Amino acid sequence: MSTTAAFPWGVPAYDSLSGPTYLTAQQLVQQVGYALASKIYSYSSEGDDLDTAVAQWNKEGVLNGYGRLPVLAKMQSRSGAGAMVLGDFFSIEDFKQKYPAPHAVIASTQTLATMQPILTQLALLYSAATPFVAHVSASDYSAANAALVANYASALYAAQETGVSLISSSSAHEIQHMALFASLISSVTPAIHVYDGVRLARESCQVVDVLDAAAVKRTYTQLIQAQDAVGKKVDAAERISKILNNLNSELGTNYGLFEYEGHAEAEQVLVVFGSTEARIARRAAAELSKAGQKLGVVVVRVYRPFSDKHFLEALPASVKKVSVLGQVADKDAVAQAYTQSALYADVVAALATSSVNASVKDIKYSTEKVFTIGDIADYLGAPSFDFFAGEEAVQYVHWDVDATATAAAPAKVAKLLSEVSGKNVSFNAVFDNLSQAGIIQTEIRSTKSVVEAPFAIENADVVVVQDAKILNSYDVLGAAKEGAKVLLRTSIKDADYEKKLPAGFRRAVAAKKAELYVLNVAELGEKSEASAETDAVALQLAFLKVARPELDLAGAAEKVAALNSEDAKSILPAVSKIVENLAKGLNKVEVPATWAEAEVAQELPTTIRANSTEANTEKEIEERVGETSKWHEAAKGLLFKEAYETKASIRPDLPERNFIVKVKSNKRLTPADYDRNIFHIEFDTTGTGLTYEIGEALGVHAHNDRKEVEDFIDFYGLDASELVNVPSREDPAYTETRTIFQALLQNIDLFGRPGKKFYEQLAEFATDEAERKQLLTLASAEGTTEFKRRAEVDTIHYVDLLHEFKSARPAFGQLAQIVPPLKRREYSIASSQKVRPNQVDLLVVAVDWRDPTGRDRYGQATRYLSRLEIGDELVVSVKPSVMKLPPKDTQPIIMAGLGTGLAPFRAFVEYRAWQAAQGIEIGKVFLYLGSRHRREEYLFGEEWEAYLDAGIITILGCAFSRDQPQKVYIQDKLEENLVDVKEALLEGNGSFYLCGPTWPVPAITEVLSKAVTRNGVEEMKEEGRYVLEVY
Ligand SMILES: Cc1cc2nc3c(=O)[nH]c(=O)nc-3n(C[C@H](O)[C@H](O)[C@H](O)COP(=O)(O)OP(=O)(O)OC[C@H]3O[C@@H](n4cnc5c(N)ncnc54)[C@H](O)[C@@H]3O)c2cc1C
Repeated sequence: MSTTAAFPWGVPAYDSLSGPTYLTAQQLVQQVGYALASKIYSYSSEGDDLDTAVAQWNKEGVLNGYGRLPVLAKMQSRSGAGAMVLGDFFSIEDFKQKYPAPHAVIASTQTLATMQPILTQLALLYSAATPFVAHVSASDYSAANAALVANYASALYAAQETGVSLISSSSAHEIQHMALFASLISSVTPAIHVYDGVRLARESCQVVDVLDAAAVKRTYTQLIQAQDAVGKKVDAAERISKILNNLNSELGTNYGLFEYEGHAEAEQVLVVFGSTEARIARRAAAELSKAGQKLGVVVVRVYRPFSDKHFLEALPASVKKVSVLGQVADKDAVAQAYTQSALYADVVAALATSSVNASVKDIKYSTEKVFTIGDIADYLGAPSFDFFAGEEAVQYVHWDVDATATAAAPAKVAKLLSEVSGKNVSFNAVFDNLSQAGIIQTEIRSTKSVVEAPFAIENADVVVVQDAKILNSYDVLGAAKEGAKVLLRTSIKDADYEKKLPAGFRRAVAAKKAELYVLNVAELGEKSEASAETDAVALQLAFLKVARPELDLAGAAEKVAALNSEDAKSILPAVSKIVENLAKGLNKVEVPATWAEAEVAQELPTTIRANSTEANTEKEIEERVGETSKWHEAAKGLLFKEAYETKASIRPDLPERNFIVKVKSNKRLTPADYDRNIFHIEFDTTGTGLTYEIGEALGVHAHNDRKEVEDFIDFYGLDASELVNVPSREDPAYTETRTIFQALLQNIDLFGRPGKKFYEQLAEFATDEAERKQLLTLASAEGTTEFKRRAEVDTIHYVDLLHEFKSARPAFGQLAQIVPPLKRREYSIASSQKVRPNQVDLLVVAVDWRDPTGRDRYGQATRYLSRLEIGDELVVSVKPSVMKLPPKDTQPIIMAGLGTGLAPFRAFVEYRAWQAAQGIEIGKVFLYLGSRHRREEYLFGEEWEAYLDAGIITILGCAFSRDQPQKVYIQDKLEENLVDVKEALLEGNGSFYLCGPTWPVPAITEVLSKAVTRNGVEEMKEEGRYVLEVY
């Protein structure tokens, strides 16, 4: 149980979780998961602490409620590990019979998108699956804001799209119950339990009635049995409501699918989901309605299934105006009039079919919004209110830089306060690793009773600043109350305060009538060279002295020693010495009246934005800024986008709409020793606005090979960082300034195949007459055979010609004129945006060959794509395509894909499965695929089989040409099903699609003619029901 800067009470022992306990909400979620699940899939990434406790308990061999050691499967959150998880849920071993507990998934909303296909399929085939419960921390990284954000929106949209249940927790005090509730729901539908992952999950506080693991298991078992009695005929919402009622009876709680708080005759009601906003809104409604205001709040606990009936029951009959506070993806979505929040859509639908006569307003907010009490009061159209009325709340804010020895001091202080004050203490640490190379802001609240307040302190009683340099970047008193105490740890001498303390800080101290205390550790005693540890202890003691002057510090010395060392006795004398000398180094400053007039140059932020969950380990940023090469100037622009107003565009020259996407995963699908490298690459499109239709292709703007570019620069004697104007070939009126290196990497097709024209143009630069002549001959009719050999057999590049014809040396600018620009390559999109909203997938075969001289040659784009790593960025555009689904969903589709020709069909099938999950009637789906060997090239094989089992794919025809003595091709498989094919195409008016290489086209068309006649094929072509995409 070690204290860290983020967690004062560390990771609790599994058995210690019982009754009043200091912990985090995240730990309670893990306790329920551990107590009940046979298997826990963790999608926790470095630093997000989603599975820290289960990992520790598992390592210690702690047995769960079933006397088992749960399997902890650590999943790659960024790769497509979904298929494997899916397999487990449909494993033959029937856990349901012998071991009726769900498999649990621990994840953040950041990884929810990767899980969406699993959720869709699970919801479809749930009766045959092991119960599934996912505990999802609503947290994501917003690159636009460089901040961690509580992203609920994607969970709501995922639930809307996939048909899983979604419930929320809004405080640490209810999270254990909700984790249990979600586990129980999983006996009815797949269940997602979502909670704020930025604040709520990580805040430490005291929960008074923690159920121990045995009670969790006992309650679960009893309620599962009670659930069986409900009967399966009742609809899902009703069954879930019954489960909740049973849970209430068991725990003595009063949870509802929707919970109302406020005036009995409220005219104005705010509907909310989430944690911060829900907690503030509840409190506001309670306080303001007490004061006679006719308003109320409906908190949505169960978002899916959305029970209109229960929602309407929760609304007071007197309501005239309903406002829905709903989260959307980002600021753009807030601004777009046509974007609605997911919650709003449900509320409107429920009211539309009811007798309630109220107006509905959509109040959208983006994931980056951080709520204050004032915000919620505004939404309610009410004056602000005292959230902590009657609580004797004392609030402390600490500011520290990075991972210093004093960084954990606030956590120790929090623990100490909980021990000495007998009050309820809560603690939350926020890390901003981008500001001043790492700032930590910690908040401690102490209240008489348990208060659920997962939002930032707005009226601090005491502010502690552990390094004066923080004052240059933050208004540390912005969230302090009038008359607050400020403790500043600094070695600045009193005479220099005027000069060295920033004007903004001095003015704020005066304006807030704050009491300012300065701790100068060096003056605590003769031993001026205080060690880091004594420094930290001094700070804790100074804090107690300032914040709790009534405490007997000498009496607290033992506790302080115990908090700071495992061998408390050994440091006790040092601690006592500091107590004794504290007065020497801790001084109250007489604030001069002139500080009120200090001139303030700029407004500073009052709080930090979390962009990490731990202290900064990257210390290079400041050093990088100092470097001066041209390259580093460019890098600076990229590192500090806002300051340098760098446009987020890697290829500003290209005319079509480009998007910058990030590689999410890049996996080779064929074995490493197999001669063809076919890979599946996933791009993250979050925040880009990229949208695509089923069947469309992705235009990829690949780079040349870096090493080849560098070699050419050396060979040609160029200066890589020299700036040049490169014409954009796609829009010749446009030129852009680039460095030579950038131009060669991204603009110029120097490693492509030269046409005759280039030979001719190069001849103009040849100073050697023989070379000039040879080039001209090669470009002429006379040289055609030799030219063809060079192009098709030797496969030479532009660069090869420059090597060969040494006297031809166009200057770089001239070269850029005669070598064409790099062309975008297209790839069929292998995913459906319905299933993967923030993702686009490709299936690519790497192109390579060996030339007659033994040199390895590579396709320009596929080499680049195959080497991309997770997190790499790429410029893409969306290309329209002929591959469109038939107009009616019930029209059959017959698809034939060879090798990577399967790509668009994965999108087709995913989309059909999604439709089926929504209850939309879909037509028959025939899929024929061809490759050489099942073992090496059964691309997406597991998925096809799962879809076949689920009844989405009607016929799956696999032609593995070389798996048997005689060759079997797609056309053979198609022929085996002539009757079905005929029926689907003629009677069902179905469409046929063929994608991949051109060679099977005649044979396949022949088979189709057998089914529908030659004329029939022609008619299908005319009607657009015979679609080819060959490349
Ligand atoms: C609508 C559409 C959808 C597509 N979908 C997919 C898909 O889903 N998956 C997929 O893998 N592909 C797909 N393609 C093909 C893809 O666009 C590319 O053509 C392919 O990946 C090769 O690109 P590359 O840049 O790696 O090779 P390139 O550099 O373009 O080389 C391609 C070929 O040109 C020849 N060549 C290249 N350089 C030279 C030279 N110097 N001298 C002589 N010959 C040379 C070689 O024979 C080589 O095989 C699709 C194409 C289209 C039009």
